Amino acid sequence: MELEFHGATDGTTGSCHLLRAAGKTVLLECGMFQGRRDESRRRNAEFRFDPRQIDAVVLSHAHIDHSGKLPMLVRRGFDGAIHATDATSALCEPMLLDSAHIQLKDAEYLNKRRMLERVRGKRVERRRSKRERARRHEDDDAPSLYVSNPPRSEVLPLYLEEDVRDTLELFVDHRWGEWFSIAPGVRVRFHDAGHILGASWVECEVRERGKTTRLCFTGDYGRPQPILRDPTPLAPADVLISESTYGDRCHPPVDDTEEQLGAAVERLHKRRRGKLLIPAFAVGRTQHILYALDKIFERKRIADIPVVVDSPLAKRATEIVHRHPECYDEEAIERLARSERGESALRVRFTESVEDSKLLNRAPGPIVIVSASGMLESGRILHHLAWGIGSADTEIAIVGYQAQGTLGRRLVDGEPEVNILGFRHAVRARVTVMNGFSAHADRDGLLGALSPLAAQCKALFLVHGEDDQRLPLARSLRERGFGRVECPRNSALWKL
Ligand SMILES: [Zn+2]
Repeated sequence: MELEFHGATDGTTGSCHLLRAAGKTVLLECGMFQGRRDESRRRNAEFRFDPRQIDAVVLSHAHIDHSGKLPMLVRRGFDGAIHATDATSALCEPMLLDSAHIQLKDAEYLNKRRMLERVRGKRVERRRSKRERARRHEDDDAPSLYVSNPPRSEVLPLYLEEDVRDTLELFVDHRWGEWFSIAPGVRVRFHDAGHILGASWVECEVRERGKTTRLCFTGDYGRPQPILRDPTPLAPADVLISESTYGDRCHPPVDDTEEQLGAAVERLHKRRRGKLLIPAFAVGRTQHILYALDKIFERKRIADIPVVVDSPLAKRATEIVHRHPECYDEEAIERLARSERGESALRVRFTESVEDSKLLNRAPGPIVIVSASGMLESGRILHHLAWGIGSADTEIAIVGYQAQGTLGRRLVDGEPEVNILGFRHAVRARVTVMNGFSAHADRDGLLGALSPLAAQCKALFLVHGEDDQRLPLARSLRERGFGRVECPRNSALWKL
């Protein structure tokens, strides 16, 4: 058996791990790297393996940092099966289509920027050559000595909607707990990872040369949280691949964080004007926030504050969530039933069009607006921020992880002025950070899930974590009896 790591080896995005076993090549995840635009483009443009040689893909869940390069894989010649749970494959449709749209917009932006760079370059050259000619007392009509910047080739989107459609045709759906064969000698089953709808950890059994080897891959391993069922405990295995997002950090309890959100709603209720803006990832976090708001509105008997979800992807994702009650815990099923009977205190409205979204800008409030993107780097939330951030009647609830360099991180860091859509804005709004909504296991959760497996495990690989998280986790796991814990680098090959 061989493992090759092609992503999420120096951070938490771009998951992509290659398994060679029983003469077959299986790809675990095919995720997109997410970070600064230029670096993302460079890192996402290529594969360091031939997509035509992959026999099958096994996908743990729909988040773009795990699934976002699948259409590129298909565009470059992969035509095998993509195995996932039915809820994951349902979520992949709107998410990959949304990603294709973002690729297109990105390419348009980069081409426009390059064109402007060329035009500006030419203007500078013209000014320079005019000065030069004046200095030499040359005639104005003499040809310029300077050559303008040569045009660079046009930037193309990484993939198009057509590629997404081709990709969706390759999905093969499975239920949790059911073995399926992906090649002779290789069988797999999914288990509930309690991370987002449909998210799984993967158990893989390989028979070669009369020997059976078991491999478990955590995908993104969740934690007990509202709505979703708790993660199924991991199974003992010879080889483990684990995420390490919060390998050295512990989350505050979810209940405390919901209290914080409740206090923000109460402030809005007392003020009787203004907005509570909640930037949230469209899939997972938005639904958790709605669920928390439902409880808060009921407990505090608030019925007159409208809650608007302003994200087309979140609308689609929420519809899909409602179609998969098999993924919920009992309280969520009960709450869902009440909302369908119209008995909930919370009245949620989803915006339909861009015009509908723009109308919210002028709403005096009180109003709660949940909108993407979660790290405030793009999407409709930027317009709401631009309108609201200069007012003391606005509160911004930061409910997710904010990566270095993002607008969200600058707000968390308390910068007094920020740039939004090309304009400077003074931050007069209140910014409240609520850290407990995470859908990942924290250090204690990961140690609790992995430690019982130390005796059987011959090799444990840590991926999907910054080094300041995965290296301390590796140390803790060695202390708990794991003989071999590796933190692979990009393209690292391991023979087992
Ligand atoms: Zn995830």
